[in-house]
Amino acid sequence: MPECDYDILVAGAGIVGVSCALWAQMRGAKVALADANPPGSGASYGNAGTIATYACVPVNSPSIVSGLPFYLFSKESPLGFDWAYALKNMPWMISFLRHCSAQRVSEITDHLGNLLSHADAGLDPLIEAAGAQDLMVSNDCLYVWSTQKGYEDAKASNEARRRNGVVFDLLDAEEISALEPALKMPIHKGLLYRGARHVRNPEALVQRMHARFVADGGAWLQLGVSQSQGDADGVSATLSDGTTVRAGKLVVAAGAHSRSIRGSGAEHTPLDTERGHHVLYKAHGDLISRPVGWADAGFYAIPMNAGLRVAGTVELAGLDKPKSPGRIAYLTRKSHEMFGDLGPPNEDWLGFRPTFPDALPAIGPSPHAPNTLFAFGHQHIGLTLAGITGRIIADMAEGRAPNFDVAPFDPKRFA
Ligand SMILES: Cc1cc2nc3c(=O)[nH]c(=O)nc-3n(C[C@H](O)[C@H](O)[C@H](O)COP(=O)(O)OP(=O)(O)OC[C@H]3O[C@@H](n4cnc5c(N)ncnc54)[C@H](O)[C@@H]3O)c2cc1C
Repeated sequence: MPECDYDILVAGAGIVGVSCALWAQMRGAKVALADANPPGSGASYGNAGTIATYACVPVNSPSIVSGLPFYLFSKESPLGFDWAYALKNMPWMISFLRHCSAQRVSEITDHLGNLLSHADAGLDPLIEAAGAQDLMVSNDCLYVWSTQKGYEDAKASNEARRRNGVVFDLLDAEEISALEPALKMPIHKGLLYRGARHVRNPEALVQRMHARFVADGGAWLQLGVSQSQGDADGVSATLSDGTTVRAGKLVVAAGAHSRSIRGSGAEHTPLDTERGHHVLYKAHGDLISRPVGWADAGFYAIPMNAGLRVAGTVELAGLDKPKSPGRIAYLTRKSHEMFGDLGPPNEDWLGFRPTFPDALPAIGPSPHAPNTLFAFGHQHIGLTLAGITGRIIADMAEGRAPNFDVAPFDPKRFA
């Protein structure tokens, strides 16, 4: 076998891939990072920026099944569907629904809760290494229900959060309006997640981490990885220009596109995408002082450097279709209900959340290819979980056991 060019080759320069690359490099490995696109230009560009350590409850829920008629057919639904795509992807849908029983949701919540309890320990060293403290805001996060029914329906989820150590205050309408006087939609109750942080520019966070990686000697290959072949000594990866790179380990961190890396085993996983959109109002960045999640509407409004970003909702329509005018119209209409007339948005955006039917990321060895590690499938909380994923991958690449139980995220659950 040829000599290795690198100890580790990371495929994908989103927040997860860059975190893996930087963690491995900080541990002393010789690392290359490969992506045809600029760092942080995928899902990691336009997300809601919340470090959502409280977000242990998955989208999967028993109430999704009973609420299906509303979710599928109402114009006011935060969930959008492409029927042709849904039919083609029926196995994913059925598997998703199988993970919606109360028992299964409780298990998933506890697994995510455990991983999230380590999130800051994984992310903070990277923020420090990248000199990105100025992008971080610690001013809690507010989550609001407009209706009593919405709030009552979420009671079990809120209890599950408490069980997982999430700290929050329950606020009434008056307390919420006192905190965020710009809110104009009906308010029933809300939660204030104490100690929650957000990022004022998620793309810049990835770019700063990437700059640190390169400044410390990391190799930046501006090419995709099209296929890989693992063997007993390492991995040979074919790049998009046809050249081959040899590394001791390959880390697949290409987010929702991870299945495109043939031979890595990622192509055998049931990965799909929950598409999310955002709209941006440049002139209104000071309307609120913290992220405000509008639970009934399925999105966050977030104060960012670029303005007020309104980001969220879920659309099941795959990777190939362009931005959805219907989803953008929904976000625009609802943000005007939330704040009054904001004028037309200055930007709209589509991003691909990488999601497995069981809402758990795949972190660990490929069941199909030697010396290949998976780091993808972080659904709605990839920004939050990127740092700890990078640390786990760095541990595994060194042959060291992570300092907590990561078995629930083992990719062999799909084998
Ligand atoms: C609307 C919305 C709001 C969100 N809000 C939050 C939030 O508030 N908090 C939170 O924690 N998370 C949030 N998320 C989720 C979060 O953005 C994602 O989970 C996270 O960005 C995924 O990161 P990633 O690095 O896996 O993927 P990406 O950022 O998509 O990066 C994947 C990279 O892989 C590259 N790639 C593709 N194919 C290949 C290949 N063959 N070889 C090499 N590279 C390849 C792509 O070019 C891309 O750069 C949100 C997502 C959306 C859509």
